[in-house]
Amino acid sequence: MNLRIPGPTPCPEDVLQAMSKQMINHRGKEFAELLGQVTSKLKRAFQTNGDVFILTCSGTGAMEASIVNSLSPGDKVLSLSNGAFGDRFATIAERFGADVTRVKFEWGQAVDPDAAKRALDADPKIKAVLVTHNETSTGVTSDLEAIGAVVRKFDKLLIVDAISSLGCIDLQVDAWGCDVVATGSQKGWMVPPGLAFVSVNERAWKAHAEAKMPRFYWDFTAAKEYLEKDQTPWTPAVSVFYALGVALATLEKEGLQNIFARHARLGQQTRDGIKSLGLSLFADESCASNTITAVKSPEGVDGKKLVATVRDEHGIVLAGGQASLAGKIFRIGHLGFVTEADIDDVITQLRLALPKLGFKVPG
Ligand SMILES: *Cc1c(COP(=O)(O)O)cnc(C)c1O
Repeated sequence: MNLRIPGPTPCPEDVLQAMSKQMINHRGKEFAELLGQVTSKLKRAFQTNGDVFILTCSGTGAMEASIVNSLSPGDKVLSLSNGAFGDRFATIAERFGADVTRVKFEWGQAVDPDAAKRALDADPKIKAVLVTHNETSTGVTSDLEAIGAVVRKFDKLLIVDAISSLGCIDLQVDAWGCDVVATGSQKGWMVPPGLAFVSVNERAWKAHAEAKMPRFYWDFTAAKEYLEKDQTPWTPAVSVFYALGVALATLEKEGLQNIFARHARLGQQTRDGIKSLGLSLFADESCASNTITAVKSPEGVDGKKLVATVRDEHGIVLAGGQASLAGKIFRIGHLGFVTEADIDDVITQLRLALPKLGFKVPG
């Protein structure tokens, strides 16, 4: 099967093999060494000199951790959302008592930094801004550097969901002024689900010192205290750490800039391939993501049926649409352990599958 969903993504064989190793004491020397190594490598991938914590959870856990460690109930928060994951971020903040102003952008479009500026101008009491770097539900990457510049100018806290972009698309945590940034192991990192990574800078630590949202498992103070001893506060997903160690070594060998270039190439290849089939991209091409491509289901073709046909008859696992986009789009993941040949296969199989559903492929 060619697994082309935006996570969990396929893993290299040596990453999978690493997971079959025997358990070790997570308070012992061997784990301490592994934790130290992977943490330094992650800092380089985040392009930060701040702290990076590895949490045992999926990406959503890191989103929740980012919020409860930075905010207090009643704090005013600006949510910039252009899709299902942006909405989720706002909902988490609301659930913990934040007073959230939701600024929404059309699905398929990027977050507009000028709209962020207007919203911050309109309400000086806003304390933090929530944004999704790469909106996986619509296949859109927003200009985080420009958003970061706006948020910095207003001196607010910038909390970023970079779950499907970090490690694939350039994200300069320090240079762009991102205060808290979250990602998950099963997206671009070539690692199974189970770990999430979150960066915390000086400004975020200051916010943390005053933040009163309830937290225990997610507490960054505990994470920092333990990391100083090369430990995690709670039992980590040891096997996934083994996998992470191998995957990060491979990623460092390829090099960050080469990884970004590979994803840019694969993104372009996917978009070109889709257009060659006579299909339309869902996202505005000026902000189309290099890790995930959303495609409009053609007129008269049910997207769910298309996804089922390519899975059952062509060996390709695509993702459907989420929320209001269910049945209307399908999505192709091209992040992590993926090559040109994998994308060629997707396009070739779609070319064969589409006529079965009544869509005539041109040429
Ligand atoms: C996958 C994803 C999430 C959710 O992560 P889980 O690991 O499923 O909890 C959140 N935001 C974005 C942008 C994602 O791609």
